Formats: sequence, structure tokens, C-alpha cells
Amino acid sequence: MTTRWTYSFGAGSADGDGADKALLGGKGAGLAQMTKLGLPVPPGFTITTAACTWFFQNSEQWPAGLMDQINGAITLLESQMERSFGSTQAPLLVSVRSGAAVSMPGMMDTVLNLGLNDKTVEALARQSENPRFAWDSYRRFVQMFGDVVLGVHYTRFSQVERKFCGDRTLESLSVDDLKLLVPKLKAVISESGFAFPEDPRAQLVESVNAVFRSYNSHRARYYRKTNGIPDAAGTAVNVQAMVFGNMGNTSGTGVAFTRNPKNGQSGFFGEWLPDAQGEDIVAGTRTPLPINDNSDRDGLKLSEAMPEAHAELLRLKDILEAHYRDMQDIEFTIERGRLFLLQTRNGKRTAQAAVQIAVDLVHEGMITQEEALLRVEPEKLESVLRPVISPDANKTVIASGLDASPGAACGHVVFESLDCQAYAERDEPTILVRLETSPEDIQGMTVAAGVLTARGGQTSHAAVVARGMGKPCVVGCTEITVDYSRELFYAGDFVVRKGDWITIDGGSGEVMQGKVAMLPPQTDGGAMVELLQWADSVARLTVRANADTGTDATRARELGATGIGLCRTEHMFFHPDALRAMRRMILADDTNSRQRALNDIRPIQRAMFAEIFEAMDGLPVTVRLLDPPLHEFLPSSHEDLTDVAKELGVRVEALQTRLEQLKEANPMMGHRGVRLGVSFPEVYRTQVRALFEAAIDMSRKGIVVRPEVMIPLVAMPGEIERLREQTVEEAERVLGEAGIHIDYLVGTMIELPRAALLADKLAMHADFFSFGTNDLTQMTYGFSRDDMGKFFGDYEREGLLADSPLAVFDVEGVGQLVEMGTKKGRSANPRLKVGVCGEHGGDPVGVAFFHKVGLDYVSCSPFRVPVARLAAAHAAIKQR
Ligand code: ADP
Ligand code: MG
Ligand code: MG
Repeated sequence: MTTRWTYSFGAGSADGDGADKALLGGKGAGLAQMTKLGLPVPPGFTITTAACTWFFQNSEQWPAGLMDQINGAITLLESQMERSFGSTQAPLLVSVRSGAAVSMPGMMDTVLNLGLNDKTVEALARQSENPRFAWDSYRRFVQMFGDVVLGVHYTRFSQVERKFCGDRTLESLSVDDLKLLVPKLKAVISESGFAFPEDPRAQLVESVNAVFRSYNSHRARYYRKTNGIPDAAGTAVNVQAMVFGNMGNTSGTGVAFTRNPKNGQSGFFGEWLPDAQGEDIVAGTRTPLPINDNSDRDGLKLSEAMPEAHAELLRLKDILEAHYRDMQDIEFTIERGRLFLLQTRNGKRTAQAAVQIAVDLVHEGMITQEEALLRVEPEKLESVLRPVISPDANKTVIASGLDASPGAACGHVVFESLDCQAYAERDEPTILVRLETSPEDIQGMTVAAGVLTARGGQTSHAAVVARGMGKPCVVGCTEITVDYSRELFYAGDFVVRKGDWITIDGGSGEVMQGKVAMLPPQTDGGAMVELLQWADSVARLTVRANADTGTDATRARELGATGIGLCRTEHMFFHPDALRAMRRMILADDTNSRQRALNDIRPIQRAMFAEIFEAMDGLPVTVRLLDPPLHEFLPSSHEDLTDVAKELGVRVEALQTRLEQLKEANPMMGHRGVRLGVSFPEVYRTQVRALFEAAIDMSRKGIVVRPEVMIPLVAMPGEIERLREQTVEEAERVLGEAGIHIDYLVGTMIELPRAALLADKLAMHADFFSFGTNDLTQMTYGFSRDDMGKFFGDYEREGLLADSPLAVFDVEGVGQLVEMGTKKGRSANPRLKVGVCGEHGGDPVGVAFFHKVGLDYVSCSPFRVPVARLAAAHAAIKQR
């Protein structure tokens, strides 16, 4: 049986399966599917991804049969089009388009107007009765073929063009001008040592090879690596009859989203250019015009210029959405008033738009709630909550452009991607400023805080890529003049140099001088609230937040936290008055003076706990007793010891001695956590007292308090046994004095491997476990997050670690401890509540695992709460 390498489409039917992206690539599958739906698609054929894979596996040879099948497909195409390759009567022109299974926007190459040569151009001119169009197409083809297929850098052609044009624009060149220009462009090719093939079939073969090879280009590989796309798949190649948007003012080309990719609102969102071919828009070299009536942008709208084609576009959009049940990103061309579709795919969108569209599609009856939940990546929800410019900020707006991707960002101005990376290595944020971006800039964009371009529209490379990355971006900012060679840009009277700070607002398009104050985003989110309600109704894990203050607790609650899973009390000791008392406590020689100092700290903590209880009315609040080593509260080297000593009323020498005593070789494994509670019981007693006093205060105000006291860093059953006893004794004393009954829990963190190993013994003295997966991961691997930076890069490069186990939960290793600890704990204490309070509580990989092993809740930082809620829903749905 011979392998089938080509699949034709056209005239209402297609050989291929319109859903088979793996074989036909995304573009090819879409073309086949649209053809089957009866939509106006120029005919053509797709060379399969399998052919590409074969090509690479066989030192860039073609498989047997491919040439014959291509010839057959061309013969069919010629008869459908009533034109033929190389004909001097009616020449056939095609595009050769890349298209892998997973879309990689702008990563690979496309050649348009293939089939032109010195003879066919004359035929096309005669036949179309539009010589200018024919020569404009030839001009384009020579450049594209030179750049994409032969590898002559496109700037070499644009230099020649610029010189030829002088102060004229390309659009204003006459046919006679173009006839002079084309040979100059061909000369660039021959001067580079290549021969321009006049034979259309030779042009085709070389172009197919070039598209195959572009799959393995450096930038395509980098894109796949950063987006986790496997390398093996290969690209398909689509050969398609040309339709022409460059035939004058009744023709044009455009790109459109069937809904707004920035905020998800319904209504067409797109751009077009009259008398142009596709690459003019994508390259961002001409600023395109808006499509819709309701756009607030200036410029001739498609709905006014070509109302019939526009109406047709609206009709086709609905057909496409109904079929794909998702927002589509489509590419179209209008040839003398007639509309053609050239591409459709699920459109890239911001996180905010993803949420809005998923929810709207449910309301429109197109998808189910569960499908909607699965349509949104949990990770992305965090960027819905991007910072915005503070409304009362002092700002100097120096320019404005198009609002391409929302959110505010500030950073040092850089003009080259490499500089973004150099700054990133020093943890310095950058704003990448370019005339326009190209795929070569992806690496810089990945690490930049934001992107600003002088040219290009809402569908330019910069805009599309930034939205996909969830990165603030302003494009088409024509008010700035970029001078790469001097590394600066002008904006009115301002000169902004490399390294200067600027702030951009991708939601308004404003560019501002310096660092402008930002606010955390509002969480008013209609659609997000609704989506997360659906998430909660399918999820089994509940989500709490890590919050240390009343403000954080309020925010966490707004974001849907069902309690506080971790309130770290150390910052309560850093309150200026508390810190002074704390230092006195640490320097005290005897229990009495230690207690006096602690008595000064208690009311401060009591007030802080009260705020948190008030915010969490009715919900549980887990408070971790003091965890860090004491030396963290003493002056650091740059604080003046003399001043501190004076303030505390001790001699400098005494302070120095105590500092020496507290110094530890390895503080992470030092005198901290429950060990402090054992050495200085009065510290923990004071905290418990402050907590229950606050609980009583609030409960008297009618607030429902649910305190949970958590003992950190326990390794031995004896530790928890003793501290539980002490905690209960103190709590009962405070409650007894007040004559009030409050239910509370006492539990422990599991953050040492030994605690997980002895979980059954610990559970006899604990009402709950909370896995502190940050420390547990560090202790299991035996490295600390502060030092791992020294070798992590090597491990990554050597393929030993793909992600930091501190960011992505280590299911294989640490997961065993969590699973075992939970099982053992519950076997000894069936009522044991089990949760997680490390960063992994907001990590979708972690959440999926914690769901699987039956934990009760996860707790994460407030901004990760929506991420965790959605991840918990995904875990539940996927388990079914
Ligand atoms: P990319 O993957 O970079 O978008 P495409 O293969 O989609 O590359 O080609 C880019 C643009 O070229 C298309 O959007 C379209 O405007 C134009 N184009 C491609 N093929 C044709 C064709 N057969 N006729 C007219 N224009 C075409
Ligand atoms: Mg391309
Ligand atoms: Mg395209």
C-alpha cells in the first residue's frame, strides 16, 4: 500500500479529515474543514506532517511517491482554477504555507505568489487587465522567495526598495517603476550567489523544502521549548491557489477575531488593509484599519468601505463559531469585492478574555459548564489579576499607542532582546521597545515586563505574542521615534535612553515617564466569579489562603478563600513597638524580664489577630506560632548597634555577645519552630493568650471565630504532645477567665520527613495536619532555596531537573511523604483534617495530586486562590 502524502481540498469537498491536526497541521485541517462547511476557500492541497518527519529522518530527501502525488494534486488544482503552472495565457499562482499541528504564530515561513517569472508576470498583467497588480505581486514574490527560501535577509531587499523609492511610498509606485524595481531585487539574489528559479515547479520544490526546514529553525525550536511543544511532530505544507488582495481599492486583506481577544466581549475585532496582501498586516509595517463600526479607532472601516464583504464576513463568523464552538482567529482576503477565508483557528486570548468567552459560550448554549472550566488554564487566572495604574498616581504621559494587552508594567528601557536577558539575570525588569517585533524577539519578550512598539496594529506579532504570554503591551505608538543605533527614543520633547525607567499601560495604551504607582487589580470580575462558582460546585478540595494581616485576609476572602490556612505570626513581631519589646525579650537574662517584654507585645498581637478574625467571620483561621530563629529579630549588620543598644538600655558589648550566641551555621535547621516553644514556653504562651483574647473580643462583637493553633517544625511525637498540652492549658485559662466557650483546634505542620514517617504517632495529639511543602521539599531534597540558585542552572541544563521542585510539586518524591503521612495520620485519628500550606497549594500540579490523595484543603497566597479553585475543579473533572 502506498502512503498518502497529499490531501486536496476545494469545490466543497476535501480528502482529509478536518479534525486531524496531527496529520494535516492546524492550518491544513482548518482549510479542509472550512471547505467541507461550504465556505469560500481557495482550493489547494496539504502535504502531511508525516512527509516532513520523513524528510528529516532521511537526510532531507523526499519519500517515494511525494513528487507524483504533488504533480497529481497540481493537475487537479489547474483544472479547478482553469489556469496552469507556467502558462503564458492563464498562469496559476499559489501560496506555499507552513502549518504545524500546534500553532506557532509567526514562527515559520510562507511564500506567496509562487509561479511568477519574467514570462508569467506579463501573462498575468494581460489577463487581469491590471499590470500594476501583476508587477506588485512579482515584486513580493521575488523578495519572499529570496528571504524565506534562499535565506537572503529581508533587510537587503528593503534597503534596495527604500533607495529606489526615495521619498515616494511603495504604494505610489507606477507599473513602470515596478518593472524597474523587480530586476534590482532579483539582482540582490544573484549578488548573494543564488539563482532565482524561473521554472514554477522548481520554485515549488524549493519552497516546500524551505517550509519543512523552517520547522527546525532556531526560533521555532525555541518557541516549542518555551511552550512545551514536542519537537517530533513536523509541519504540514499547504499549497493553495492565490486570491489577490492587492488588485486595487475593491480588494484587501485582514485578520479578525470573532470576539475581542483582550476582554472576551462579543463582536468582531479585527483589522484590514485595502490593496494589500496578508504579510502586510502581520509584519506590522503598515498600520492597519479597523473592521467594525463600533471600533473607536480612526481610519476607514471595512464596514464602510466594503459593506457587502463585511456583512458576508459576519455571516461566516457565526458558521465558524457554531462549528468550532470557540472564538476563532481568521485570516481573509477580498479580491475585487469577493470574500475568501484563508485560515481559521482557535484564537489566542488574554486570561480575562478566556474566562469571559468560556462563560459566554455556556450562556449561549454552545458548551457545558465543565467544558468551560476545562477551557481555562488555572495558571492563567493569576494574570487576570494584573496590576493597574493607580488612579491618583503622579504620571507624565509621554506618548500613547494602541492598547494591545492589558495590565501595567514598568522597567528599564531596552531596545534589544539580548538586553532584556542581561537585565533579567540581575532581576531587573525591562520594557522592550522596538519599531516592531519579529519572531527573533521572542526570547526577550519572554523575560521583559512589558513590550512597546512604534508600529503595528492589534494583530501585529508583538500584540498577539504579548497577549499569549499575558504580558502588558502597547503597539502602534507612532508618537515615539526609535533610534536603535543611539539606543534611545524620542517622544515629543522627551528623550528616553536605554536603562531609563518607563511605565506602560497596556489597558489604555499610555506610555509614562519613570516608575508610576500601581494598584493591585480589582476583583469585581463578573465572569470570573461565575466561572469559579461552577468550579467550587465540582471541586472536592477547598481552598484557603495564606494571609498574615486583616487586609490580606479581606482580599483572600474576596477571591473566594474558605479560610486561612496559614497565618504567619512573625511579621507581628516586626511592628516597631513589638520589635523593640521582642529585642528586650531576647536580651533578657531571666524569665521575669522576658515576661515583661512579652506583655508589651501581647496587645499588639491581640489587635492584629482581631482584625483577621473580623475579616474571616465564620471561617477557620490557622495561626502558626513563632517559627523563625530569634536572630532574625536582632539588628542586622548594617543597622547601628550603638543606637539599638541605647534604645534598649543595654551595653553594646552585651548586644554583641548575644548576637554571637544566636549565630547559627545553618539557621534553617537551627533553633526555630517548636524548638523555640520548648526553650521559651512563655513566647508561645503569650501568642496563644493574645490569640484567644482576640477571639473573645471578636466573639463578644458577634463575630464567629474559629481559631486553629498550629505548631511548626515538629519532628517528634513528644514535641506535639507537650505543646498541645501547653496550648490547651493557656487557651482554657483565657476562655475560663472570660467565661466564654469557643471551639478551637490544635494541630501541627508536617514539614520534616520524620514527621511524615511518624504521622500516626503525631496524629494522636493533633486535630489537623498541614503539610508545609516548602520546607518539606527542601528537607527532602536536602537543599535550601537560598542556596539552590548556585547549581539549579547546571541541573536544568543537564536535564536533571526540569522545574524547581519549589515551584512545581515533586509528586514522585515529596508526594510519597504527603500520601503516607495522610494515610498514617488518618489511621490513628479518623477525624484528622489534612491540608497543605506551601506554595504548592496554588500550583496546579500540586493541587491535582492533593486532590488525588484525598486532602481536605489547600492554602496558598491570596492571588493564587482563583488558580487553586480552578485547579481543584480540573482535578475533580479529570478524575471522573
Ligand atoms: P502565518 O502562519 O504566518 O499566518 P499564512 O500561511 O497564514 O502564514 O500566510 C499569511 C498570510 O498570507 C495569510 O493570512 C494570507 O493573508 C496570505 N495568504 C496565504 N495564502 C494565500 C493565498 N492562497 N491567497 C491569498 N493570500 C494568501
Ligand atoms: Mg508566517
Ligand atoms: Mg496565518
